[in-house]
Amino acid sequence: MLAALASVRDPELGRPITDLDMVKDVSVEGGRVRVEILLTVQGCPLANRIERDVAQAVGRLPGVDGVEVRLGYMDEAQRQALVRKIRGPEPEPKSAVLDPASRTRVIAVASGKGGVGKSTVTANLAVALRAMGRQVGLLDADIYGFSIPGMMGVSGPPRVFQRAIVPLEAHGVQVMSMGFLVERDTPVIWRGPMISGAVEQFLRDVLWADLDDLVVDLPPGTGDVPLSLATRLPRAEMLVVTTPQEASVSVAKRAALFAAKTNMRVLGVVENMAWLVCPHCGETIDVFGRGGGRRMAEELGAPLLAAIPLEPAVRAASDAGTPIVLSQPDSESAKAFRRLAEAVVGGRSPLPVPR
Ligand code: ADP
Repeated sequence: MLAALASVRDPELGRPITDLDMVKDVSVEGGRVRVEILLTVQGCPLANRIERDVAQAVGRLPGVDGVEVRLGYMDEAQRQALVRKIRGPEPEPKSAVLDPASRTRVIAVASGKGGVGKSTVTANLAVALRAMGRQVGLLDADIYGFSIPGMMGVSGPPRVFQRAIVPLEAHGVQVMSMGFLVERDTPVIWRGPMISGAVEQFLRDVLWADLDDLVVDLPPGTGDVPLSLATRLPRAEMLVVTTPQEASVSVAKRAALFAAKTNMRVLGVVENMAWLVCPHCGETIDVFGRGGGRRMAEELGAPLLAAIPLEPAVRAASDAGTPIVLSQPDSESAKAFRRLAEAVVGGRSPLPVPR
């Protein structure tokens, strides 16, 4: 029966009516067959022909005494579904970021472990690049521990426009974070594949507008989650954030392995919390030791791009939603973050560490 119906083609579309979801129902009673056909449009000029072809095709089958063909019409939803079927899926909203020819530079910020200031560096780098007149996107890929919304002083939900997500704007930077999509203080309990899917969607379906730079805050560590996320980033270069204390040879080795697995070039190392200026006497205190960032950079074969001092104002600025580069541009850390941005853009050679 199906084969007989499949031999009937829609004269206009040239395809079997069975492929076009035009056969709504078939019922058989003894030798009598009733076929219900859905035509695409009311008053279809080819209705008679389809009716005749169906009656003939089914009537030829052995044991069939009579054929009744009933004609109906598709509703709007069915018609749309048919159009999609014929045309194929509509092209995905394509983000410029994923285009191989895109001029957007993707800078992934990674760290050996949490708490070294990776998100702080990412947020300050983004606003420092913006202050240089660049179009900057900030993608918070730290799905479990997103802190970018708080640091940038912005919260969701974002607008959806033509099936794409419009990033929120904060301090002139286009920002997207998982934090915009989940309730505040609700733990994200997604599993690995969903998470990497979310990041892919952030790259593909977010309407990043003509970016010079997309700065990405990766989850801490060099384990499976950051690794699988990092592999989704096209053409990314990696910045490794470390404290002098954390900057061990083993962390450097893991970072290098991470970069190799994800085909990223290591752009350089950022040593954070590098020293503390005593608020009383102005003397420099090496809270976490000295020279770790440089050693790590050597180990990685990449330049040390910046050393950021430990300043209470850095934390206070982040907590208040305005990164220190903007809230206290004359502070030592703001200067160091600006140097980092200049080094990233390439206008300045790697660090003359201010010590
Ligand atoms: P990570 O992203 O590596 O987990 P965060 O950027 O969240 O780390 O920083 C951890 C904490 O340390 C935050 O409270 C942040 O404000 C603070 N912090 C980061 N860098 C500095 C700095 N240079 N001086 C003072 N506090 C800092």
